[in-house]
Amino acid sequence: MIGFEIAPKVITIDGPAASGKSTIGQMLADRLGYLYLDTGSMYRTTTLAALKAEIDLADEAEVTRLARTIDMDIKPFTGETDGRQYTVLLNGDDVTWELRSPQVDTNVSLVSSFPGVRQELVRRQRQYGQSGRVVMVGRDIGTVVIPDAPLKLYVTASPEERARRRWLDRKDQGHTADYEAILADVNRRDQFDRSRTVSPLRPAKDAIIIDNTDRSPEDILEDILKLIRDRVKDDPISRT
Ligand code: C5P
Repeated sequence: MIGFEIAPKVITIDGPAASGKSTIGQMLADRLGYLYLDTGSMYRTTTLAALKAEIDLADEAEVTRLARTIDMDIKPFTGETDGRQYTVLLNGDDVTWELRSPQVDTNVSLVSSFPGVRQELVRRQRQYGQSGRVVMVGRDIGTVVIPDAPLKLYVTASPEERARRRWLDRKDQGHTADYEAILADVNRRDQFDRSRTVSPLRPAKDAIIIDNTDRSPEDILEDILKLIRDRVKDDPISRT
């Protein structure tokens, strides 16, 4: 943490599914002593809440109403040993692992394409942003949620590499995992996220693009920290 007291107040990291942005975001937040906010978990929590309430997921008005009323809380990591990066509470219940179920995976793109759901979750995300000292990770953080963030990153990797990583995660978590099916799901979600009308997945004009296909997260983290040091040196104003 020492030496980064003057890092930008908000750092945004966007990118497609399983690009490694969460790992990098978490490591960066740890090094800076910042809050790590994975906005995908908020769309997942809304999807899970709709599944639990047995709402028709295609019923945009009902799902939007639900998004506005649920009590969702994201708590920072406090040393849990089950591999989690943070804890998500839905109406007081710990749903951190339920958010990763294949059923949520399948339905989350649809739920996140509803403008009313996005409006509500963006509102909640901006509240976190206002407190500052946050690394916020998602699809539209640099383009829509905090477009004036002083440092924006866009992390990507090939679809095959992203599917391979998700396949390994699934196996580690004890789920059955079929690589071809996961690759198809990664491609389907990319297509959906890039082509939706509201907040499509794309890098902000001023985002720095990081290709994570053949590199370790540690390597990338060092590059980002160097970038922060150089920026602060070149332009001390840009840190706010
Ligand atoms: O990042 P993760 O895979 O957990 O995100 C789940 C889904 O939530 C994505 O496929 C995308 O549809 C949606 N999402 C979004 N905007 C964000 C974060 C996630 O639309 N900022």
